[in-house]
Amino acid sequence: MKVYNSATRTKEEFVPLEGDNVRMYACGITVYDDCHIGHARQAIAYDMISKYLRFKGYKVTYVRNYTDVDDKIIARANQLGVNAVAYAEQKIRESEEDLKRLNVKDADRKPKVSECIPDIIAFIEGLIEKKHAYVSKKGDVWYSVMSFPGYGKLSRKDPDQLLEGVRKDLEEGKKDPRDFALWKSAKKDEIFWKSPWGNGRPGWHIECSAMALKNLGETLDIHGGGKDLIFPHHENEIAQSEALTGKPLARYWTHNGLVTIDGQKMSKSLGNTLTIKEALRKYHPEVIRHAMLSRHYSADVDISAKEFALSEKSLYYFYKTLGDIDAFLAANSPTSEKLTVCDDISANVKSGFVEAMDDDFNSSLAISHLFQICKFVNTLLADKKQPKGAVVVAFQRIRDDIGNAYAVLGLMQEPPGMFIRALNLKHLEEAGLTEEKVQALIEERATAKQKKDYAAADEIREKLDQLGITLQDSRTGTTWGLKLGALPEG
Ligand SMILES: [Zn+2]
Repeated sequence: MKVYNSATRTKEEFVPLEGDNVRMYACGITVYDDCHIGHARQAIAYDMISKYLRFKGYKVTYVRNYTDVDDKIIARANQLGVNAVAYAEQKIRESEEDLKRLNVKDADRKPKVSECIPDIIAFIEGLIEKKHAYVSKKGDVWYSVMSFPGYGKLSRKDPDQLLEGVRKDLEEGKKDPRDFALWKSAKKDEIFWKSPWGNGRPGWHIECSAMALKNLGETLDIHGGGKDLIFPHHENEIAQSEALTGKPLARYWTHNGLVTIDGQKMSKSLGNTLTIKEALRKYHPEVIRHAMLSRHYSADVDISAKEFALSEKSLYYFYKTLGDIDAFLAANSPTSEKLTVCDDISANVKSGFVEAMDDDFNSSLAISHLFQICKFVNTLLADKKQPKGAVVVAFQRIRDDIGNAYAVLGLMQEPPGMFIRALNLKHLEEAGLTEEKVQALIEERATAKQKKDYAAADEIREKLDQLGITLQDSRTGTTWGLKLGALPEG
Protein backbone atom coordinates (compact mmCIF):
# COMPACT_ATOMS: atom_id res chain seq x y z
CA MET A 1 0.00 0.00 0.00
CA LYS A 2 1.32 3.42 -0.95
CA VAL A 3 0.59 6.75 0.69
CA TYR A 4 1.58 10.16 -0.61
CA ASN A 5 3.66 11.89 2.04
CA SER A 6 3.46 15.68 1.84
CA ALA A 7 6.70 15.89 3.85
CA THR A 8 8.80 14.08 1.24
CA ARG A 9 6.47 14.88 -1.67
CA THR A 10 6.58 11.28 -2.83
CA LYS A 11 4.36 8.24 -2.66
CA GLU A 12 5.87 5.89 -0.10
CA GLU A 13 5.20 2.32 0.97
CA PHE A 14 2.99 2.48 4.05
CA VAL A 15 4.69 0.94 7.09
CA PRO A 16 3.29 1.79 10.53
CA LEU A 17 5.70 2.28 13.41
CA GLU A 18 4.40 -0.73 15.36
CA GLY A 19 3.11 -3.77 13.48
CA ASP A 20 -0.56 -3.51 12.58
CA ASN A 21 -1.30 -0.54 14.82
CA VAL A 22 -2.01 2.72 13.05
CA ARG A 23 -2.02 5.94 15.01
CA MET A 24 -3.87 8.54 13.04
CA TYR A 25 -4.54 12.18 13.89
CA ALA A 26 -6.54 14.68 11.85
CA CYS A 27 -7.00 18.33 12.75
CA GLY A 28 -10.67 18.82 13.46
CA ILE A 29 -13.11 21.66 13.49
CA THR A 30 -13.12 25.04 15.18
CA VAL A 31 -16.71 24.96 16.30
CA TYR A 32 -18.10 28.49 16.06
CA ASP A 33 -20.76 28.10 13.38
CA ASP A 34 -22.70 25.48 11.39
CA CYS A 35 -20.36 23.07 9.63
CA HIS A 36 -20.09 23.64 5.90
CA ILE A 37 -19.32 21.43 2.95
CA GLY A 38 -15.56 22.05 3.32
CA HIS A 39 -15.71 20.45 6.79
CA ALA A 40 -17.62 17.57 5.22
CA ARG A 41 -14.86 17.08 2.65
CA GLN A 42 -12.21 16.75 5.34
CA ALA A 43 -14.31 14.52 7.58
CA ILE A 44 -15.29 12.26 4.66
CA ALA A 45 -11.67 12.02 3.44
CA TYR A 46 -10.35 10.82 6.81
CA ASP A 47 -13.43 8.67 7.40
CA MET A 48 -12.63 6.91 4.11
CA ILE A 49 -8.93 6.58 4.99
CA SER A 50 -9.58 5.16 8.48
CA LYS A 51 -12.24 2.77 7.13
CA TYR A 52 -9.92 1.53 4.41
CA LEU A 53 -7.08 0.94 6.87
CA ARG A 54 -9.49 -1.15 8.99
CA PHE A 55 -10.69 -2.96 5.86
CA LYS A 56 -7.01 -3.88 5.30
CA GLY A 57 -6.82 -5.34 8.81
CA TYR A 58 -4.98 -2.55 10.61
CA LYS A 59 -5.90 -1.67 14.17
CA VAL A 60 -6.57 2.02 13.85
CA THR A 61 -6.75 4.60 16.61
CA TYR A 62 -8.16 7.72 15.01
CA VAL A 63 -8.08 10.99 16.93
CA ARG A 64 -9.83 14.10 15.69
CA ASN A 65 -9.80 17.18 17.90
CA TYR A 66 -12.25 19.98 18.51
CA THR A 67 -11.04 23.53 18.94
CA ASP A 68 -13.53 24.81 21.46
CA VAL A 69 -11.43 27.77 22.67
CA ASP A 70 -10.69 30.34 20.00
CA ASP A 71 -11.12 34.06 19.14
CA LYS A 72 -14.09 33.44 16.85
CA ILE A 73 -15.89 31.24 19.40
CA ILE A 74 -15.33 33.80 22.16
CA ALA A 75 -16.56 36.64 19.93
CA ARG A 76 -19.69 34.70 18.89
CA ALA A 77 -20.47 33.61 22.45
CA ASN A 78 -20.01 37.16 23.78
CA GLN A 79 -22.35 38.43 21.09
CA LEU A 80 -24.97 35.92 22.22
CA GLY A 81 -24.20 36.51 25.89
CA VAL A 82 -23.44 32.84 26.60
CA ASN A 83 -20.47 30.93 28.00
CA ALA A 84 -17.92 30.24 25.24
CA VAL A 85 -17.25 26.59 26.16
CA ALA A 86 -20.96 25.82 26.51
CA TYR A 87 -21.63 27.49 23.16
CA ALA A 88 -18.87 25.39 21.54
CA GLU A 89 -20.31 22.24 23.14
CA GLN A 90 -23.65 22.92 21.46
CA LYS A 91 -21.92 23.41 18.09
CA ILE A 92 -19.96 20.16 18.59
CA ARG A 93 -23.21 18.26 19.11
CA GLU A 94 -24.71 19.77 15.97
CA SER A 95 -21.62 19.03 13.88
CA GLU A 96 -21.69 15.41 15.06
CA GLU A 97 -25.32 15.09 14.00
CA ASP A 98 -24.47 16.50 10.57
CA LEU A 99 -21.55 14.14 10.08
CA LYS A 100 -23.50 11.15 11.34
CA ARG A 101 -26.11 11.79 8.66
CA LEU A 102 -23.27 11.74 6.13
CA ASN A 103 -22.36 8.28 7.45
CA VAL A 104 -19.06 9.54 8.90
CA LYS A 105 -18.00 7.25 11.72
CA ASP A 106 -16.99 9.00 14.92
CA ALA A 107 -13.27 9.25 15.59
CA ASP A 108 -12.09 6.95 18.40
CA ARG A 109 -11.12 9.91 20.51
CA LYS A 110 -12.32 13.47 20.22
CA PRO A 111 -10.30 15.63 22.58
CA LYS A 112 -11.32 19.23 23.22
CA VAL A 113 -9.00 22.09 24.15
CA SER A 114 -11.04 22.94 27.24
CA GLU A 115 -10.44 19.42 28.59
CA CYS A 116 -6.68 19.32 27.85
CA ILE A 117 -5.47 22.50 29.55
CA PRO A 118 -3.19 20.70 32.07
CA ASP A 119 -1.58 18.70 29.22
CA ILE A 120 -1.09 21.87 27.19
CA ILE A 121 0.48 23.68 30.18
CA ALA A 122 2.84 20.75 30.83
CA PHE A 123 3.83 20.74 27.15
CA ILE A 124 4.60 24.47 27.20
CA GLU A 125 6.60 24.10 30.43
CA GLY A 126 8.70 21.45 28.68
CA LEU A 127 9.38 23.80 25.76
CA ILE A 128 10.35 26.66 28.11
CA GLU A 129 12.69 24.33 29.97
CA LYS A 130 14.37 23.33 26.70
CA LYS A 131 14.69 27.01 25.74
CA HIS A 132 12.37 26.71 22.75
CA ALA A 133 9.91 29.11 24.33
CA TYR A 134 10.00 32.24 26.47
CA VAL A 135 7.60 34.13 28.70
CA SER A 136 6.90 37.83 28.23
CA LYS A 137 6.30 40.28 31.07
CA LYS A 138 2.60 40.33 30.16
CA GLY A 139 2.36 36.59 30.74
CA ASP A 140 2.30 35.50 27.09
CA VAL A 141 4.43 32.52 26.12
CA TRP A 142 6.06 32.59 22.67
CA TYR A 143 7.63 29.80 20.67
CA SER A 144 11.08 30.77 19.45
CA VAL A 145 11.00 29.72 15.79
CA MET A 146 14.75 30.13 15.23
CA SER A 147 15.50 27.77 18.14
CA PHE A 148 14.26 24.87 16.01
CA PRO A 149 16.67 24.09 13.16
CA GLY A 150 14.15 22.16 11.04
CA TYR A 151 11.61 25.00 10.84
CA GLY A 152 10.07 25.17 7.35
CA LYS A 153 10.81 21.57 6.34
CA LEU A 154 7.20 20.55 5.71
CA SER A 155 6.12 23.65 3.80
CA ARG A 156 9.63 24.10 2.29
CA LYS A 157 9.78 27.66 3.47
CA ASP A 158 13.08 29.33 4.19
CA PRO A 159 12.96 30.94 7.66
CA ASP A 160 14.98 33.90 6.30
CA GLN A 161 12.36 34.58 3.67
CA LEU A 162 9.66 34.46 6.32
CA LEU A 163 11.10 37.71 7.67
CA GLU A 164 10.21 39.53 4.46
CA GLY A 165 6.93 41.32 4.48
CA VAL A 166 6.11 40.64 8.14
CA ARG A 167 5.05 43.31 10.56
CA LYS A 168 8.08 45.11 11.89
CA ASP A 169 6.31 46.51 14.96
CA LEU A 170 6.46 43.51 17.23
CA GLU A 171 3.73 42.71 19.70
CA GLU A 172 4.75 43.50 23.25
CA GLY A 173 7.20 40.91 24.58
CA LYS A 174 7.71 39.10 21.27
CA LYS A 175 11.39 38.82 20.28
CA ASP A 176 11.20 37.75 16.64
CA PRO A 177 8.35 38.41 14.19
CA ARG A 178 8.32 34.72 13.23
CA ASP A 179 7.61 33.57 16.79
CA PHE A 180 4.08 32.37 17.53
CA ALA A 181 1.97 32.29 20.70
CA LEU A 182 1.77 29.15 22.82
CA TRP A 183 -0.12 30.84 25.64
CA LYS A 184 -2.06 34.10 25.49
CA SER A 185 -2.55 36.19 28.62
CA ALA A 186 -6.21 36.85 29.39
CA LYS A 187 -7.90 39.88 27.88
CA LYS A 188 -10.93 41.53 29.42
CA ASP A 189 -14.18 39.55 29.04
CA GLU A 190 -12.45 36.43 27.83
CA ILE A 191 -12.60 32.92 29.15
CA PHE A 192 -9.32 32.00 30.90
CA TRP A 193 -7.53 29.29 32.85
CA LYS A 194 -4.90 29.61 35.56
CA SER A 195 -1.32 28.86 34.53
CA PRO A 196 2.23 29.30 35.89
CA TRP A 197 2.34 32.50 33.73
CA GLY A 198 -0.94 33.94 34.98
CA ASN A 199 -4.49 33.73 33.69
CA GLY A 200 -4.82 33.01 29.99
CA ARG A 201 -5.60 30.46 27.31
CA PRO A 202 -3.65 28.35 24.83
CA GLY A 203 -2.72 29.43 21.32
CA TRP A 204 -4.14 27.39 18.47
CA HIS A 205 -1.13 25.34 17.29
CA ILE A 206 -0.14 23.95 20.69
CA GLU A 207 -3.43 22.09 21.19
CA CYS A 208 -2.76 19.58 18.40
CA SER A 209 0.79 18.86 19.59
CA ALA A 210 -0.43 18.29 23.15
CA MET A 211 -3.48 16.22 22.17
CA ALA A 212 -1.53 14.05 19.73
CA LEU A 213 1.12 13.35 22.38
CA LYS A 214 -1.44 12.60 25.06
CA ASN A 215 -3.66 10.34 22.95
CA LEU A 216 -1.26 8.70 20.52
CA GLY A 217 2.31 9.13 21.78
CA GLU A 218 5.38 10.83 20.37
CA THR A 219 5.18 9.67 16.75
CA LEU A 220 1.99 9.36 14.71
CA ASP A 221 1.70 7.12 11.68
CA ILE A 222 -0.62 9.43 9.77
CA HIS A 223 -1.20 13.10 10.41
CA GLY A 224 -3.83 14.78 8.30
CA GLY A 225 -5.75 17.93 7.64
CA GLY A 226 -6.73 20.33 4.89
CA LYS A 227 -3.87 21.49 2.71
CA ASP A 228 -4.49 25.06 3.89
CA LEU A 229 -3.10 23.91 7.26
CA ILE A 230 0.38 23.02 5.97
CA PHE A 231 1.64 26.48 6.84
CA PRO A 232 1.77 27.68 9.48
CA HIS A 233 -0.32 25.22 11.52
CA HIS A 234 1.38 21.92 10.69
CA GLU A 235 4.80 23.52 10.43
CA ASN A 236 4.28 24.87 13.96
CA GLU A 237 3.01 21.52 15.24
CA ILE A 238 6.26 19.94 14.00
CA ALA A 239 8.35 22.68 15.63
CA GLN A 240 6.59 22.24 18.98
CA SER A 241 6.44 18.45 19.10
CA GLU A 242 9.84 17.63 17.67
CA ALA A 243 11.56 20.27 19.82
CA LEU A 244 10.03 18.65 22.90
CA THR A 245 10.41 14.94 22.13
CA GLY A 246 13.31 14.85 19.66
CA LYS A 247 11.25 12.34 17.63
CA PRO A 248 9.49 12.82 14.27
CA LEU A 249 5.89 13.95 14.85
CA ALA A 250 4.46 11.95 11.96
CA ARG A 251 5.64 9.28 9.56
CA TYR A 252 3.19 10.28 6.82
CA TRP A 253 1.73 13.75 6.36
CA THR A 254 -1.46 13.70 4.31
CA HIS A 255 -3.49 16.70 3.14
CA ASN A 256 -6.95 16.82 1.70
CA GLY A 257 -7.95 19.18 -1.10
CA LEU A 258 -10.27 22.11 -0.53
CA VAL A 259 -13.76 22.91 -1.71
CA THR A 260 -14.85 25.80 -3.90
CA ILE A 261 -18.43 26.64 -4.81
CA ASP A 262 -19.12 27.40 -8.48
CA GLY A 263 -15.44 28.16 -8.93
CA GLN A 264 -15.21 30.54 -5.98
CA LYS A 265 -13.78 30.25 -2.53
CA MET A 266 -16.51 29.75 0.04
CA SER A 267 -16.94 32.82 2.20
CA LYS A 268 -19.51 34.54 4.33
CA SER A 269 -18.99 37.83 2.46
CA LEU A 270 -19.75 36.22 -0.92
CA GLY A 271 -22.79 34.57 0.60
CA ASN A 272 -21.96 31.27 -1.11
CA THR A 273 -21.41 29.13 1.97
CA LEU A 274 -23.09 25.75 1.74
CA THR A 275 -23.67 24.18 5.14
CA ILE A 276 -23.95 20.42 5.57
CA LYS A 277 -27.53 20.88 6.75
CA GLU A 278 -28.44 22.80 3.57
CA ALA A 279 -26.74 20.21 1.35
CA LEU A 280 -28.59 17.39 3.15
CA ARG A 281 -31.91 19.12 2.57
CA LYS A 282 -31.27 18.92 -1.17
CA TYR A 283 -29.23 15.76 -1.63
CA HIS A 284 -29.07 12.17 -0.42
CA PRO A 285 -26.05 11.64 1.89
CA GLU A 286 -24.52 9.17 -0.58
CA VAL A 287 -24.80 11.78 -3.32
CA ILE A 288 -22.74 14.18 -1.20
CA ARG A 289 -20.19 11.46 -0.41
CA HIS A 290 -20.00 10.52 -4.08
CA ALA A 291 -19.39 14.15 -5.09
CA MET A 292 -16.45 14.24 -2.65
CA LEU A 293 -15.01 10.77 -3.22
CA SER A 294 -15.20 10.75 -7.01
CA ARG A 295 -12.16 13.03 -6.74
CA HIS A 296 -8.91 11.94 -5.14
CA TYR A 297 -8.85 13.14 -1.54
CA SER A 298 -5.89 15.42 -2.24
CA ALA A 299 -7.59 17.18 -5.16
CA ASP A 300 -9.65 20.32 -4.83
CA VAL A 301 -13.35 19.89 -5.51
CA ASP A 302 -15.53 22.50 -7.14
CA ILE A 303 -19.08 22.02 -5.95
CA SER A 304 -22.01 23.10 -8.08
CA ALA A 305 -25.56 21.98 -8.73
CA LYS A 306 -24.21 20.33 -11.88
CA GLU A 307 -21.65 18.36 -9.87
CA PHE A 308 -24.31 17.02 -7.49
CA ALA A 309 -26.59 16.21 -10.46
CA LEU A 310 -23.77 14.13 -11.99
CA SER A 311 -23.36 12.24 -8.71
CA GLU A 312 -27.11 11.61 -8.59
CA LYS A 313 -26.98 10.27 -12.13
CA SER A 314 -24.07 7.95 -11.38
CA LEU A 315 -25.61 6.59 -8.18
CA TYR A 316 -29.01 6.17 -9.83
CA TYR A 317 -27.34 4.05 -12.50
CA PHE A 318 -25.41 2.00 -9.92
CA TYR A 319 -28.49 1.40 -7.76
CA LYS A 320 -30.69 0.58 -10.72
CA THR A 321 -28.12 -2.03 -11.74
CA LEU A 322 -28.03 -3.44 -8.19
CA GLY A 323 -31.83 -3.56 -8.17
CA ASP A 324 -31.76 -5.49 -11.46
CA ILE A 325 -29.21 -7.90 -9.94
CA ASP A 326 -31.48 -8.46 -6.92
CA ALA A 327 -34.51 -9.10 -9.14
CA PHE A 328 -32.52 -11.58 -11.22
CA LEU A 329 -31.25 -13.37 -8.11
CA ALA A 330 -34.79 -13.61 -6.72
CA ALA A 331 -36.04 -15.23 -9.92
CA ASN A 332 -33.20 -17.66 -10.69
CA SER A 333 -31.04 -20.31 -8.98
CA PRO A 334 -27.32 -20.99 -9.24
CA THR A 335 -25.94 -23.88 -11.30
CA SER A 336 -22.43 -25.09 -12.02
CA GLU A 337 -22.57 -23.98 -15.65
CA LYS A 338 -19.95 -21.54 -16.96
CA LEU A 339 -20.41 -18.09 -18.41
CA THR A 340 -19.39 -17.93 -22.03
CA VAL A 341 -18.34 -14.26 -21.98
CA CYS A 342 -14.60 -13.84 -22.25
CA ASP A 343 -14.30 -10.81 -20.00
CA ASP A 344 -15.90 -12.15 -16.79
CA ILE A 345 -14.93 -9.47 -14.26
CA SER A 346 -17.10 -10.77 -11.43
CA ALA A 347 -14.07 -12.32 -9.68
CA ASN A 348 -12.13 -9.04 -9.71
CA VAL A 349 -14.50 -6.63 -8.00
CA LYS A 350 -12.72 -6.74 -4.67
CA SER A 351 -9.19 -6.96 -6.04
CA GLY A 352 -9.85 -4.03 -8.38
CA PHE A 353 -11.11 -1.99 -5.44
CA VAL A 354 -8.09 -2.90 -3.32
CA GLU A 355 -5.65 -2.11 -6.11
CA ALA A 356 -7.17 1.35 -6.55
CA MET A 357 -7.29 2.10 -2.83
CA ASP A 358 -3.79 0.74 -2.19
CA ASP A 359 -2.56 3.48 -4.47
CA ASP A 360 -2.88 6.39 -2.03
CA PHE A 361 -6.58 5.77 -1.29
CA ASN A 362 -7.66 6.38 -4.90
CA SER A 363 -11.42 6.41 -4.35
CA SER A 364 -11.89 8.13 -7.69
CA LEU A 365 -10.48 5.12 -9.53
CA ALA A 366 -12.45 2.73 -7.28
CA ILE A 367 -15.68 4.52 -8.29
CA SER A 368 -14.82 4.34 -11.98
CA HIS A 369 -14.35 0.56 -11.53
CA LEU A 370 -17.96 0.48 -10.32
CA PHE A 371 -19.02 1.83 -13.73
CA GLN A 372 -17.22 -1.00 -15.47
CA ILE A 373 -18.82 -3.56 -13.16
CA CYS A 374 -22.32 -2.17 -13.75
CA LYS A 375 -21.71 -2.08 -17.50
CA PHE A 376 -20.71 -5.74 -17.32
CA VAL A 377 -23.85 -6.61 -15.33
CA ASN A 378 -26.05 -4.88 -17.87
CA THR A 379 -24.31 -6.71 -20.71
CA LEU A 380 -24.99 -10.03 -18.98
CA LEU A 381 -28.63 -9.10 -18.38
CA ALA A 382 -29.10 -8.29 -22.05
CA ASP A 383 -27.25 -11.37 -23.31
CA LYS A 384 -30.01 -13.98 -23.43
CA LYS A 385 -27.56 -16.69 -24.52
CA GLN A 386 -25.81 -16.83 -21.13
CA PRO A 387 -26.81 -19.79 -18.88
CA LYS A 388 -28.94 -18.23 -16.14
CA GLY A 389 -27.47 -20.37 -13.35
CA ALA A 390 -23.97 -19.14 -14.21
CA VAL A 391 -25.16 -15.52 -14.27
CA VAL A 392 -26.61 -16.04 -10.78
CA VAL A 393 -23.20 -17.18 -9.48
CA ALA A 394 -21.48 -14.17 -11.03
CA PHE A 395 -24.14 -11.77 -9.71
CA GLN A 396 -23.99 -13.17 -6.16
CA ARG A 397 -20.27 -12.59 -6.09
CA ILE A 398 -20.58 -9.07 -7.51
CA ARG A 399 -23.37 -8.15 -5.09
CA ASP A 400 -21.43 -9.31 -2.01
CA ASP A 401 -18.16 -7.73 -3.08
CA ILE A 402 -19.74 -4.36 -3.93
CA GLY A 403 -21.55 -4.32 -0.58
CA ASN A 404 -18.37 -5.06 1.40
CA ALA A 405 -15.80 -3.05 -0.51
CA TYR A 406 -17.81 0.09 -1.19
CA ALA A 407 -18.88 0.31 2.45
CA VAL A 408 -15.40 1.81 2.89
CA LEU A 409 -16.55 4.75 0.77
CA GLY A 410 -19.98 4.76 2.42
CA LEU A 411 -21.59 4.10 -0.97
CA MET A 412 -24.06 1.43 -2.15
CA GLN A 413 -25.24 0.79 1.42
CA GLU A 414 -28.98 1.33 0.89
CA PRO A 415 -31.54 -1.12 -0.42
CA PRO A 416 -31.72 -0.21 -4.16
CA GLY A 417 -35.49 0.23 -4.11
CA MET A 418 -35.30 2.80 -1.33
CA PHE A 419 -32.59 4.86 -2.96
CA ILE A 420 -34.34 4.86 -6.33
CA ARG A 421 -37.68 5.79 -4.82
CA ALA A 422 -36.14 8.67 -2.87
CA LEU A 423 -34.56 10.04 -6.03
CA ASN A 424 -37.74 9.46 -8.06
CA LEU A 425 -39.79 11.48 -5.60
CA LYS A 426 -37.22 14.27 -5.51
CA HIS A 427 -37.17 14.42 -9.30
CA LEU A 428 -40.98 14.41 -9.55
CA GLU A 429 -41.19 17.27 -7.09
CA GLU A 430 -38.66 19.30 -9.08
CA ALA A 431 -40.63 18.60 -12.27
CA GLY A 432 -43.88 19.67 -10.58
CA LEU A 433 -45.29 16.13 -10.72
CA THR A 434 -46.48 13.46 -8.30
CA GLU A 435 -46.59 9.68 -8.60
CA GLU A 436 -50.39 9.94 -8.98
CA LYS A 437 -50.10 12.42 -11.84
CA VAL A 438 -47.59 10.20 -13.69
CA GLN A 439 -49.87 7.20 -13.16
CA ALA A 440 -52.86 9.15 -14.49
CA LEU A 441 -50.86 10.12 -17.61
CA ILE A 442 -49.86 6.48 -18.13
CA GLU A 443 -53.53 5.46 -17.99
CA GLU A 444 -54.54 8.29 -20.30
CA ARG A 445 -51.94 7.05 -22.77
CA ALA A 446 -53.20 3.46 -22.51
CA THR A 447 -56.74 4.63 -23.26
CA ALA A 448 -55.52 6.66 -26.24
CA LYS A 449 -53.71 3.60 -27.57
CA GLN A 450 -56.83 1.48 -27.17
CA LYS A 451 -58.70 4.02 -29.25
CA LYS A 452 -55.88 3.83 -31.77
CA ASP A 453 -55.16 7.53 -31.19
CA TYR A 454 -51.41 7.02 -31.46
CA ALA A 455 -50.70 10.72 -31.89
CA ALA A 456 -52.19 11.46 -28.46
CA ALA A 457 -50.37 8.49 -26.91
CA ASP A 458 -47.05 9.66 -28.35
CA GLU A 459 -47.68 13.16 -27.15
CA ILE A 460 -47.97 11.93 -23.56
CA ARG A 461 -44.78 9.92 -23.86
CA GLU A 462 -43.03 12.96 -25.35
CA LYS A 463 -44.28 15.22 -22.57
CA LEU A 464 -42.99 12.89 -19.85
CA ASP A 465 -39.73 12.45 -21.68
CA GLN A 466 -39.17 16.18 -21.63
CA LEU A 467 -39.70 16.08 -17.86
CA GLY A 468 -36.97 13.47 -17.54
CA ILE A 469 -39.27 10.45 -17.23
CA THR A 470 -39.12 7.40 -19.44
CA LEU A 471 -41.87 4.82 -19.91
CA GLN A 472 -41.28 1.14 -20.31
CA ASP A 473 -44.02 -1.02 -21.84
CA SER A 474 -44.25 -4.72 -21.12
CA ARG A 475 -46.89 -7.44 -21.24
CA THR A 476 -47.89 -6.67 -17.66
CA GLY A 477 -48.29 -2.93 -18.25
CA THR A 478 -46.30 0.27 -18.31
CA THR A 479 -43.79 1.32 -15.69
CA TRP A 480 -41.86 4.56 -15.43
CA GLY A 481 -38.37 5.56 -14.36
CA LEU A 482 -36.03 8.52 -14.54
CA LYS A 483 -33.92 9.14 -17.59
CA LEU A 484 -31.08 9.26 -15.04
CA GLY A 485 -31.15 5.46 -15.11
CA ALA A 486 -29.55 5.37 -18.55
CA LEU A 487 -25.80 4.84 -18.61
CA PRO A 488 -24.18 8.21 -17.91
CA GLU A 489 -21.81 9.47 -20.59
CA GLY A 490 -18.10 9.25 -19.99
ZN1 LIG B 1 -3.82 20.60 14.14
